[in-house]
Amino acid sequence: CGVIGIYGPEIENISQLAYFGLHALQHRGQESAGIAVNKDGKITYYKEMGLVQEVFSDTVIQRLQGDIAIGHVRYSTTGESFVTNAQPLVVHYKGGAIALGHNGNLVNANQIREELEDHGVIFQTSIDSEVIANLIARYNAMPIDEAIQKALSRIRGSYALVITHGQKLIGVRDPNGLRPLCLGKIEGGYVLASESCAFNVLNAEFVRDIDAGEMVIIEENKVRSIRYAEERKALCSFEFVYFARPDSIMDGQSVYLSRRNAGRILAQEYPVEADMVIAVPDSGTVAAIGFAEESKIPFGEGLIKNRYVGRTFIQPDQKMRELSVRLKLNVLKENIKGKRLVLIDDSIVRGTTSRRIVDLLKAAGAKEVHVRVCSPPVKFSCYFGIDTPTRKNLVGAVNSIEEIRQMIGADSLGYLSIEGLMKSIHIDGQGLCNACFSGDYPMEVPKEGNKFLFE
Ligand code: 5GP
Ligand code: SF4
Ligand code: MG
Repeated sequence: CGVIGIYGPEIENISQLAYFGLHALQHRGQESAGIAVNKDGKITYYKEMGLVQEVFSDTVIQRLQGDIAIGHVRYSTTGESFVTNAQPLVVHYKGGAIALGHNGNLVNANQIREELEDHGVIFQTSIDSEVIANLIARYNAMPIDEAIQKALSRIRGSYALVITHGQKLIGVRDPNGLRPLCLGKIEGGYVLASESCAFNVLNAEFVRDIDAGEMVIIEENKVRSIRYAEERKALCSFEFVYFARPDSIMDGQSVYLSRRNAGRILAQEYPVEADMVIAVPDSGTVAAIGFAEESKIPFGEGLIKNRYVGRTFIQPDQKMRELSVRLKLNVLKENIKGKRLVLIDDSIVRGTTSRRIVDLLKAAGAKEVHVRVCSPPVKFSCYFGIDTPTRKNLVGAVNSIEEIRQMIGADSLGYLSIEGLMKSIHIDGQGLCNACFSGDYPMEVPKEGNKFLFE
């Protein structure tokens, strides 16, 4: 998911800014979109299934008037893909109204949920984020920042949160900093966003990343920071591999440069003789440029992407995913015929994409197709907000590299090593989660089979 928060009592049309910001975060979730605005503690909102552009009309944006806005684009990991599960979540409790947007996934949500239900609490959605809202509401006798801290002390998992209540905009990043969140400055206010690429659209100046275990409270046009938990940094390395936009900077590292580094390192780890390097657009493009630079094999275009088809992975079921690969990519026959190709993709999860593409390239006359993957084999499920399937559907968990090579029909197959990936992001590779590759989770996770907590 993607979240945005804008503080700006002096800003006219704050919902319009939230809309543009969400647009820049669209790649983080395409199922639903929503904006909530806060005017003197009164919250109005609009959310619907669909892309940002489909959900909001001018009329709707005009109606959302306020001093603070938060927005959310959703990509479901827990809870089905229904409008009731769209965010921001808006709840009314004794302490007033709260709107909350959550990127991440709680690993102990069903436990807390059961506990709250035993006390008669009613849930209206099947998303884990509602647990956070209900916990906050329980501590209604306290000031909001204390109530939030109380709630946070109960939950485990990944969360980048934007919350508005009263005159405040609040941002929170979990103690591992698994999901990104950063702070920017605009004329007359401040912005919080999942990725810094949203700041460019808003003409905001990047101030800094929110720290792992930090809560920021923006009020009276000032930013106050509270460290509510000790930092145990484990930013998701998959953000760099696939999820984030290349023009974002996360925890001080450019996503673009890390992808290019990854391509270079991959070329060192798995060199091959070939005539041309091509990418699976768009997610493999930057890494392919790095691979080409390092290997001195020219980069060329072999696949053309239909710009109007969404991200294939972010489709809730397998049938949709298969169809969208075909809708999305077409081979540039005249440029690949008779050539030995290196095909670069960012990741192999189920293997659907690679198998389809190798088939297409061979059918169009490619002489050889050498697949190079810019991340290690995905062997373990993610419990922190990236919808990798359960282990039996992860092609890398149940097959050897040679078996995968045969399955996808490639002439050779090479994956980036875990060390290579870590090095491509940070020189020392510290402070990153790589559990889906290594199984080394930054916290205790539910047993396999228990992954979809509310499904
Ligand atoms: P597969 O077809 O192997 O299941 O999917 C791999 C493709 O899905 C890659 O090309 C990658 O770009 C894309 N992808 C999209 N979203 C995600 C995601 O959330 N996680 C992973 N691992 N890959 C994704
Ligand atoms: Fe990211 Fe993988 Fe860790 Fe999940 S398990 S947070 S996808 S690095
Ligand atoms: Mg891809």
